[in-house]
Amino acid sequence: MYVTDCLCGGTGRRGRLKICCSQERAGSIPARGTIRILLDQYLEVVLSKTIALTGDRPTGKLHLGHFVGSLKTRVDLQHTHDQYIMIADTQALTDYFENPQLVVDNIVEVLSDYLAVGIDPELSTIFIQSQVPALCELTMYYMNLVTVARLERNPTVKAELAQKDFGKSIPAGFLCYPVSQTSDITAFKAEVVPVGEDQLPMIEQANEIVRRFNRIYNTQCLKEITAHLGETKRLAGIDGKAKASKSLNNAIFLCDSPEIIKEKVFAMFTDPDHLKVSDPGKIEGNVVFQYLDAFYPDAKEISALKTQYQKGGLGDTVIKSLLNDVLQHLLQPIREKRAELKRENLLDLCFDGTKKAKSVAEKTLYEVKSSIGIDFFEKCNFYQRNH
Ligand code: ATP
Ligand code: MG
Repeated sequence: MYVTDCLCGGTGRRGRLKICCSQERAGSIPARGTIRILLDQYLEVVLSKTIALTGDRPTGKLHLGHFVGSLKTRVDLQHTHDQYIMIADTQALTDYFENPQLVVDNIVEVLSDYLAVGIDPELSTIFIQSQVPALCELTMYYMNLVTVARLERNPTVKAELAQKDFGKSIPAGFLCYPVSQTSDITAFKAEVVPVGEDQLPMIEQANEIVRRFNRIYNTQCLKEITAHLGETKRLAGIDGKAKASKSLNNAIFLCDSPEIIKEKVFAMFTDPDHLKVSDPGKIEGNVVFQYLDAFYPDAKEISALKTQYQKGGLGDTVIKSLLNDVLQHLLQPIREKRAELKRENLLDLCFDGTKKAKSVAEKTLYEVKSSIGIDFFEKCNFYQRNH
């Protein structure tokens, strides 16, 4: 009995471990301790769950767009998947490099939002991107596999560049952040990434890099990735813009007070031509209805209200009151849980997660370097010696 392709060789994923019996080796029966180790490794592989990874830029507090686009899915996935959640401070610095304190301060805000919605650090590995240097090293190797023109064509990058006023002075780090995102995902062999629709071009670009890497270096060491979209793929901004976003400050935040929530709901963009209650109103582009679709539990009721609104005879105040009620109900427990957290100890919650993330990412980095052929001093038993 012997094992090929074992975990310490750096290929430790489901199906890669083979325990075999052969004529030639029949004479060399392994010691009891060895069998025990082999069985432990076998169980680790058989019982391993699919890996999921997501992250948020610590550029502000999290909002309802995050909630429906990604956070809700993460709360479910932490029970079924091996889930990594990354606080993407390195990525946030690509456009906030002149204001690092904003990024630093928001790490605790993002962590508070995670805990408040039910992400559990015992079930999910929460880590801080800047503390995992292997991610930067991976980015360096992946950058060779993508052209500047392709990065400039990335629709998410294009949309974000249009929002920012870099002019012709686009930071190279910002242009390359899709590559760094590829490192974040592949470092953990994540196959599932719960994201909002705005991130789909990122996943497509990451898969291009994965395929190119595997082809050029004749390996299967990187996994292709599937985006896992939330029920609401993209929540609009309260101002009618296509996406609620921290940077645009056009969102309802998970920690907003009841008064602010009401104020924001009543200021929401509806149909500018719907002046009198009796006027027929438009649903398309009407943010209140988009939010009701996302948060109101009874879809039939909303459908009847839409019909009435289109015909005329339903005022904006009625639909806004309905939305305000449903959002107050949703956000009250989240806000209360958030207020109870002891903020001074929060960072400690991702210490163990960051340690684990560091070790896993280093292992992938080793595989990547050995696929390229630059694993000069790190040959096979590197992990036994260092971990
Ligand atoms: P920033 O303005 O700093 O880019 P953001 O509000 O876009 O912040 P991110 O940290 O970039 O938030 O996004 C984190 C995750 O939340 C991503 O998966 C993204 O797709 C999802 N997300 C963010 N905003 C929305 C939204 N309005 N609708 C659905 N998903 C969203
Ligand atoms: Mg964003």
